[in-house]
Amino acid sequence: MVVPHDARGRPICLKIPVSWVYTALGLALFSFILVGSSMIYSTLLSRKLVNYANTLSRSEQQQVVINSFSDKTVKVGRAIDELVRQDNELRKLLGLKGWQSKVKLSTDRISSEVKAGKVSTVFEEANDKLAERNKSLEELKQWVSFVRSRLASTPSSWPFYGRLVSFFGYRSYPWRGVHTGVDIQAYRGAPVRSTAAGVVSFVGWRSGYGKTVEIDHGHGVATLYAHNSGYAVKTGQKVRKGQVVCYVGMTGWSTGPHVHYEVRRYGRPVNPVAFLNLNIFTASRFWR
Ligand SMILES: [Zn+2]
Repeated sequence: MVVPHDARGRPICLKIPVSWVYTALGLALFSFILVGSSMIYSTLLSRKLVNYANTLSRSEQQQVVINSFSDKTVKVGRAIDELVRQDNELRKLLGLKGWQSKVKLSTDRISSEVKAGKVSTVFEEANDKLAERNKSLEELKQWVSFVRSRLASTPSSWPFYGRLVSFFGYRSYPWRGVHTGVDIQAYRGAPVRSTAAGVVSFVGWRSGYGKTVEIDHGHGVATLYAHNSGYAVKTGQKVRKGQVVCYVGMTGWSTGPHVHYEVRRYGRPVNPVAFLNLNIFTASRFWR
C-alpha cells in the first residue's frame, strides 16, 4: 500500500504476489554475481594479454639474435669454403691431387638450418670440414718437408759455373772411349762446390781421375769431382749443397784445368747435364 502525504491524495493499494518479490531478489543476486565474475575474468584476461605481449616482444628479440647468428654462421661457412679453395689451389700449384670435401656444407644450407634451429648440426659439419682441412694441411706440410729434403739431396746445380768443354758419352778426343761425366772449364784453384747435400764417401787419388772427391747423397745418388789440385773436406764429413769440397787442378789424365763432374745413380754414371739446373718440379722426376 502507498500512502501519499498530501491531503487530497488517496492511498494506492497494490497487490504483489510474494513469488514476484523472490524473483526480483533472485534476479538482483544473479546480476550481481554476473557482473562480479565478469570483472574478475576481464582482469585475468588483461593480465594474460600483457604476458602475451611481453612474450611476443621477447621472441622478436630472439628472432633478431637468430638472424644475426645465422648471418655470422654463413660468414664462417664462406670462410671455410675459401680455405678449401685456397687449399686446392695450393695443391694444384704443387702438382698434387685436389681434395674433394666429403662434408656437404653449403652457405645456403647453413642459413636455413640455423633458422630451423639446427645450430648444432651446422657446427658439427663445420667442425668436420675444418678437421678435413687440418688433415689436408698436415699432408701438405709432410709433402713440403719431403720435397725440401729430397731437393737438398738431389744434384741440382753446377759444381763450378763455366763452359762445358766435354760432354757425357762416347768420344774420341783426348781419349777414345765413353766419357762418364762432363768437363767444365775452370781456372786452377777455383772452388768446386757440392751440387747437393750429402756425406763425403771418398777423398783421394783415383787412376785417371787424379785427386777425386765423391759424395753420397742418399737415395742411390752420388756425385764425383775429379782432376782437383786440393781438397776442402774429409771422408765421412757431412756437406751442405753449395759447400766447397775441393779446388780445380789438372791431376790425372787432364789436358788443362777443369772439373770432371759425374753423377751416379745406383753406381751407374748418368748424364750430369740433366742435373745442372734443377728446381722442385724438374728434380721431382728423379724421385720415383
Ligand atoms: Zn772428364
